[in-house]
Amino acid sequence: MDEKLITVKQVSLNNNCPECFSKKGLELAFKQNFIETKFYRSITQDISTEMYCNICDSNIYPINWTEDIERVYDYQMKAFEPKKASKKYKPLFWIITGVVATVVITGAVLALINFPV
Ligand SMILES: [Zn+2]
Repeated sequence: MDEKLITVKQVSLNNNCPECFSKKGLELAFKQNFIETKFYRSITQDISTEMYCNICDSNIYPINWTEDIERVYDYQMKAFEPKKASKKYKPLFWIITGVVATVVITGAVLALINFPV
């Protein structure tokens, strides 16, 4: 099973970076957890966020956020619409399901045909 955080939305913020004080580099990324197995691929509702400054190339952790950043973050969080949780089955799943169904149906039909009346 493979778990991946995938960025689903990215917004540029007009706030000063707490590290380099530039107003041009802050970016907030919303990520959702994707799970991939041999049989299916699914998106979960686990949302995580990451703030990054492109000017000083550093992650900005909540501990360093200013009040302004917190306010913008709250606003962005409210505006963010996560991708709906979903599960997509892969071909392998359907092949196995199909084979199992065929065996079961064949078995049932044979049993019916051979059923002594
Ligand atoms: Zn910076």
